[in-house]
Amino acid sequence: MLVEVSRLTKTYRAPDGSDAVEVLRDLELRVEAGQTVAILGPSGCGKSTLLNIIGALDHADAGEVRVAGQDLTKLDETALAKFRNETVGFIFQLHHLLPQCSVLENVLVPTLAQPRRDGTAGRAAQLLESVGLSHRANHRPGQLSGGERQRVAVARALINEPKLLLADEPTGALDRVNATRLIDLLLEMNRALGLPVVIVTHAVDLARRMNRVLELVDGQLREYRS
Ligand code: ADP
Ligand code: MG
Repeated sequence: MLVEVSRLTKTYRAPDGSDAVEVLRDLELRVEAGQTVAILGPSGCGKSTLLNIIGALDHADAGEVRVAGQDLTKLDETALAKFRNETVGFIFQLHHLLPQCSVLENVLVPTLAQPRRDGTAGRAAQLLESVGLSHRANHRPGQLSGGERQRVAVARALINEPKLLLADEPTGALDRVNATRLIDLLLEMNRALGLPVVIVTHAVDLARRMNRVLELVDGQLREYRS
């Protein structure tokens, strides 16, 4: 089991301690190796909170969060930083590419924190080829279309060979054609690398292309129907 989340609870409070909002309540989630999972749910229901906790960008208040054999609730800050850098790849709605760096340099950013970087340039070039952007390696992100930028973000998310890909509304800012292409690309990476993918999306038709479709309702996940 690649992801095992049990009895996960997350509550946000106002700075003065009042107005507690329980976003996730005793949430259960299991993702098997190689599986693709979509998470649906209305805005504000806690999808990003859940993804951020699985990716160690945020922490649970209670419960267990095991990812790739590591219990995130028990790691110290150093181990969490290493986990974020090496174990998960993240794609967000906005690409977050560095505007002053080339496409190739952007793909290499996650490798900068690592002491051993042999072969990373070759690997970045290979990844750019697999996302169809070899000819854009020396361009700046500002010179690319929205769809191309998201494909660079996919290459960047994969540069450290993560064990899990997390995508938070990655097609939210794309038109239909580019959204479909991005999902094609994620599924291709899943097939080629056996990489499990958890994607948050509003688009039911895109969600249906994943192995499992779940919806987040009242702080818990359930199988999506209809
Ligand atoms: P979604 O991604 O499904 O739109 P989020 O996970 O971003 O939802 O947010 C879930 C709820 O938690 C929302 O009501 C949001 O306002 C609240 N929330 C998110 N982050 C914080 C935070 N850092 N502090 C307080 N409330 C937050
Ligand atoms: Mg969100």
